[in-house]
Amino acid sequence: MKINLANIKKAKKILDKSECVAIPTETVYGLAGKAYSDKACLKIFKLKKRPKNNPLIVHYHNCKDLEKDCILNNDFIRLYKSFCPGPITFVLNLKRNSKISKFVTNNMKTLAVRFPKHPVTRNLLKKLNYPLAAPSANLSSKVSAVNSNDVRDDFGKKIKYILNGGKSSIGLESTIVDLRNKPKILRLGGLEPSLIQKILNKKVSINNNPLTISSPGQFKLHYSPGIPIRLNVKKTKKNEAFLLINKKKEIKSNYYFLSKSGNLKEAARNLYSTLRKIKKSKYKSIAVKKIPNRGIGKTINDRLNRASKF
Ligand code: AMP
Ligand code: MG
Repeated sequence: MKINLANIKKAKKILDKSECVAIPTETVYGLAGKAYSDKACLKIFKLKKRPKNNPLIVHYHNCKDLEKDCILNNDFIRLYKSFCPGPITFVLNLKRNSKISKFVTNNMKTLAVRFPKHPVTRNLLKKLNYPLAAPSANLSSKVSAVNSNDVRDDFGKKIKYILNGGKSSIGLESTIVDLRNKPKILRLGGLEPSLIQKILNKKVSINNNPLTISSPGQFKLHYSPGIPIRLNVKKTKKNEAFLLINKKKEIKSNYYFLSKSGNLKEAARNLYSTLRKIKKSKYKSIAVKKIPNRGIGKTINDRLNRASKF
């Protein structure tokens, strides 16, 4: 993708003033602010209507920058070398002299950090002398944004600037792994746990259950399009959209296909935009046909599961 340097310059100017800018990433769009500024971080919570006890992920350009704020360990270095930049977030211990705003972590002594791969945002991060706190650029508990129009739909003119980077190539949030002690997945995401386990060469537990999760952001209802969702359905009801993993011979007006051929990566990429499209089409609810629970299909099912707790 061609990088427009003037746009990046504009985004930097706004961020330098502790204002918020929406940024593209390969997972979903982020609502970014200077992570060292209380003012910028408070603004993020306000714009998203996000509960203050749901901490933010901080985005860095590289590992050297991160060293100013966090204590690194061997597991981190291994995963960083294998997967970064990419769709993985690490929970690490904060350094005592870190400048990260207390609003980012809700006063906790841990920090969730990520190195996004999107070339536009990488270029921007390289030009900044601070990291970016950036949760997903959507209203709290709703469907994430995967292109600039989604961000505009949610926030209108309330956001000063949206840095356009096209459609997010993965379309689902990052995998969060807590590396403070024994490695533990806190949220399924764009990177498969088996790949993390392979690199670390040790057991990685998965604690993705919202009732027992230590990550306060794993609230029960999340990723919701704002209408009820029924899972593993074979037949739809009246005024209900039908979400299917692959194209069928029989096509009806209420059928929405996530992929042409049942490809799970393509389905992941299309999930949030399809949920938004259905909501706009005035259906009263969504029925979802069973989606294979393997690979990134597990993350798709996790998101639909949470979205169904309406
Ligand atoms: P999002 O709003 O999509 O960016 O999601 C951010 C996720 O990261 C939420 O589920 C947070 O609870 C989680 N998170 C952020 N900081 C921490 C942290 N220090 N420890 C554990 N989870 C965190
Ligand atoms: Mg989010």
